[in-house]
Amino acid sequence: MKFGGTSVGDATCIRRSAEIVANASREHSLAVVVSAMSGVTNRLIDAAHQAKRGDRDAGKTLAEALHRQHFEALAMLVSNEKSRMQVQHRIEEILGEGSRLYEGTALLRELTPRTLDSISSLGERLCAPVVSAALCDMGVASSAVEATELIVTDSFHGGAEPQADATRQRSHARIGPILNAGQVPVVTGFIGATADGVLTTLGRGGSDYSATILGAALDAEEIIIWTDVEGVLTADPRLVSEARTIAEISYREAAELAYFGAKVLHPKTLRPVLPAGIPVWIRNSFAPEKLGTKITQHGRSIGGGVKALTAIRDVALISVGGPGIVGVPDVVGRTFSTTAQLRAEVLLISQSSSQNDICFIVAKAHAQATLEALHREFAQDLAHQVVEHITMDPNIAIVAVVGENMRGTPGVAGRTFHALGREGVNIIAIAQGSSETNISFVVSDQSVKPALLATHREFGLGKLTSN
Ligand code: ADP
Ligand code: ASP
Ligand code: MG
Repeated sequence: MKFGGTSVGDATCIRRSAEIVANASREHSLAVVVSAMSGVTNRLIDAAHQAKRGDRDAGKTLAEALHRQHFEALAMLVSNEKSRMQVQHRIEEILGEGSRLYEGTALLRELTPRTLDSISSLGERLCAPVVSAALCDMGVASSAVEATELIVTDSFHGGAEPQADATRQRSHARIGPILNAGQVPVVTGFIGATADGVLTTLGRGGSDYSATILGAALDAEEIIIWTDVEGVLTADPRLVSEARTIAEISYREAAELAYFGAKVLHPKTLRPVLPAGIPVWIRNSFAPEKLGTKITQHGRSIGGGVKALTAIRDVALISVGGPGIVGVPDVVGRTFSTTAQLRAEVLLISQSSSQNDICFIVAKAHAQATLEALHREFAQDLAHQVVEHITMDPNIAIVAVVGENMRGTPGVAGRTFHALGREGVNIIAIAQGSSETNISFVVSDQSVKPALLATHREFGLGKLTSN
């Protein structure tokens, strides 16, 4: 079971989540993964950037606030004084480490990806002992475990990749005895460590990924991701108020949604469970009586083919073009080896038929670096006007229409674009992979909401029955 930031946001939420664990632990052997209390990771990262600019107080002020926040939650959750003092001591140790990291950053005015990982991991490290102590207080034997002892990754800070075999070995060795002793381990989400023990993170929102990495490593029967909505919805409920919970969805569909920005799942969440076919549930910790969404190998088909919509906003469109690139065979190759070198993930590619313009989309965070690297790569070509322009548009978004049964269902694209046309939404670029599990298109950022509303209505997604 994984509990996200809002599910452990304060003492009341932690108690509610702990009750879910307590109930389940009567019938099952289970391991828990927790995120940082909500908002903590953002605050840690903001303070790190302030420290980098030479601000010596930002880290100190935050450490004091986090001290207060975690002590307060602990006081409400744990009545046993001895166990409360143990956790208080642990919180102080972790914050002491944090303060030294902030001091070093402010002193050097340098923030390496490795240091940023250590700083942003503090939230999960502070939260796990509190949740574990709350469980003990309810009579559920539990111990807190740092995922640096379990999840072995490569050294790509800020988005490390797990190594399945080593992770399996360590997880069994460390978690096996805890489970055998009838205890519930509470593991920090979001983090791992390289084989030689250097802390890494799996990327923002990565606790979902931690849960499936660990679930797969421990051969779990199922994985439940507890969050603040009743499962995977037909669209982001913040943008489309008529969005409904989908009872069952396939790995493929859920992965497409996550990839194209549905924040409810980290994009890599489903990778570890594919080989063993472990079902993943998305459920609401604020309404545990609801069943939520079940993500399985095949999902369950519904009429019409379209399952859900999503949009991804923090992205930029980059185009490389000019009539001169016609017939230059390596422009595409050089463009994408440049993005690969930067590890800038390309979310969508479109090329016009006269070959004189290639456009693609990367996360906004990678856009400037990508643009600069392309200018360097094509410096000669720009000078000789083989390539005429390399431009970037940051005011765009991708909207994706997702559903495995769209494959072979004629008319989905027609209906999508007809609905958009009716609403006056201008389409900048379009892509549909041959898998036909999604149609994605690029619109201006201010058209995202009308585009979602129009397509949601067109495919009657608000009328789906939820469970
Ligand atoms: P957690 O802290 O539990 O990991 P997140 O905030 O990361 O939770 O993800 C849950 C949020 O994802 C929801 O509150 C919702 O606003 C957003 N969301 C976006 N798209 C969807 C969708 N299709 N279905 C459900 N939630 C979505
Ligand atoms: N706390 C981390 C973040 O905010 C990981 C997570 O919540 O999944 O990105
Ligand atoms: Mg999340």
